[in-house]
Amino acid sequence: IRPMYVGLNDLVTDMLKMVQRLISEKVTVDWKPYENLGAIYADPGQIDQVLLNLCVNARDAMDNQGQLSISTMNIDLNEDFCSMNPWASPGAYVMLSVKDSGCGMDSQTLDNIFQPFFTTKETGKGTGLGLSTVYGIVKQHNGFIHVESSPGCGAAFQVFFPRVEKRPQQR
Ligand code: ADP
Ligand code: MG
Repeated sequence: IRPMYVGLNDLVTDMLKMVQRLISEKVTVDWKPYENLGAIYADPGQIDQVLLNLCVNARDAMDNQGQLSISTMNIDLNEDFCSMNPWASPGAYVMLSVKDSGCGMDSQTLDNIFQPFFTTKETGKGTGLGLSTVYGIVKQHNGFIHVESSPGCGAAFQVFFPRVEKRPQQR
């Protein structure tokens, strides 16, 4: 990996040009970059992979129509919040949110999504490696992921990366 100080908004904007070509015109893509987003120390290629995997899953869940909402945000998690939300740890983060209006997941599926080779897709349509790769990359960057979903109500993936007080470097 080749980490550098990167601005997530630029990465997302570039990647969405690619994503647009992978998804149906009937899917509305809503991209809301946070204005004064902090930098993260990350390998740009790996962050691209995270976003791509999340967007491809969203597309697969949406059956050619719906809404894909992507946003970023600076977020500070304090001890109080983290004591009530064990998936989180306190600190300053940049959050990437990828939300879809697709089929959603039941709790059994949710329990397994980060396992390598776990897939609910037909043979040949899914490898089950997308989210385990995402998990590995996010871990490597000292971040974490929070997922909320229920059947019929879509899925929301929030990825947290530690925020650094640096200016993004030129890629
Ligand atoms: P694959 O896409 O090859 O099945 P992934 O690791 O990317 O493997 O995802 C694992 C499983 O998690 C999927 O098969 C699906 O059941 C579930 N999943 C992931 N993302 C979503 C989503 N946005 N909406 C509904 N289910 C999802
Ligand atoms: Mg996938």
